[in-house]
Amino acid sequence: MNVLKPLTSSPRELSPSYDPWDPITSLRKHGRHVLTSVEFTVTNLCNMRCEHCAVGDSLTSKEGDMLPLKNMLDRLEEVEHLETISITGGEPMFRAGTVDNIIVPLLKYAKERGIRSQINSNLTMPYSRYEKLLPYLDVMHISFNYVNGDDFHEVGFANSGHAVAKDAAYRLYNTMIENSRRLSEDGMLISAETMINYRTHTKLPEIHKLILDMGAKRHEVHPMYNSSFASALPVLSLNEMRTAIHALLDKRDPDVWMLFGTLPFFACSFLEEDQKLLSRMRAEKNVTLRNDPDGRNRVNVNMFTGDVFVTDFADIAAFGNIDNQKLDDIFIDWQTKHPLNQKVNCYCDAAGCCGPNLLVADMYYPEVDFKTRKAINL
Ligand code: SF4
Repeated sequence: MNVLKPLTSSPRELSPSYDPWDPITSLRKHGRHVLTSVEFTVTNLCNMRCEHCAVGDSLTSKEGDMLPLKNMLDRLEEVEHLETISITGGEPMFRAGTVDNIIVPLLKYAKERGIRSQINSNLTMPYSRYEKLLPYLDVMHISFNYVNGDDFHEVGFANSGHAVAKDAAYRLYNTMIENSRRLSEDGMLISAETMINYRTHTKLPEIHKLILDMGAKRHEVHPMYNSSFASALPVLSLNEMRTAIHALLDKRDPDVWMLFGTLPFFACSFLEEDQKLLSRMRAEKNVTLRNDPDGRNRVNVNMFTGDVFVTDFADIAAFGNIDNQKLDDIFIDWQTKHPLNQKVNCYCDAAGCCGPNLLVADMYYPEVDFKTRKAINL
């Protein structure tokens, strides 16, 4: 095992000018995409069954044992350019044992090596579990798509398969808000993500305000991915999405970092309305557009099987396993040989763009060959 030296200087603060999850940074630095980010799926259990869940079909009510953590840490240690890790599920904090035996050790490893960490949680578990992450975690990423507890009840348990009492849903909703406020007060960066979909597109400014009231320091906005449970939901038109983003930008708090990701608008578009929106976003204070990390600088590892995927949710088969391959080698194979990567692997430096998300490209631009396009109007 290679032993890489930990960073000794204090890490740079995450900010609109420093987002190590964005693959454009490593692409510019190395002149090619390299693996800088590893995401772990640490559970398929969850106490919720959201209408839009992009991994809904993988959720279970029981699960077996994970691979030994050491196997994963040994593989991580070999990743030469590692800068970030992300932990996802299911609900990663669902079992106290996962927090103690997997999540905290992974975060400790990240901290000691000087790399940044994120966890995706619904924040409805007891505070005592989250508190354990305070010394190590960089970003607590939550999903927030509601204007009240009724919305949460309707959206959060849509696929439960049985009725969930409204007061039970309200208890979880209030726990999430209270946990967010408390963790934020205790110094954790809460980054709340709202998806733009058929329910939220007219309510984004209201949702934004609630997110700030919860103490979140960053608001992320992404289109809904048309995957798993969400594949049965109506797809928003590009026009509705543009209108929703303009409305949010009109009303948002400009002092708060607003991160847009995987948007279906590109600098190579011939549409004036796309160029207008992109120009506005580039000019707005504290607004960033993150390129999609999936398959660009990140892979997902399933901690039960060791299988490696391009993302935790896309319906793309595993393309390697940590049992017999290094993560850097698996990533190079994906980059150089996989036909799906070739489809969206474009890059326009002046636009700061390295191509669309696979699902978004499929959803809105099935006929477009992005490799033949170039950014215009810059
Ligand atoms: S990198 Fe690809 S998607 Fe982005 S502007 Fe250039 S051609 Fe369009």
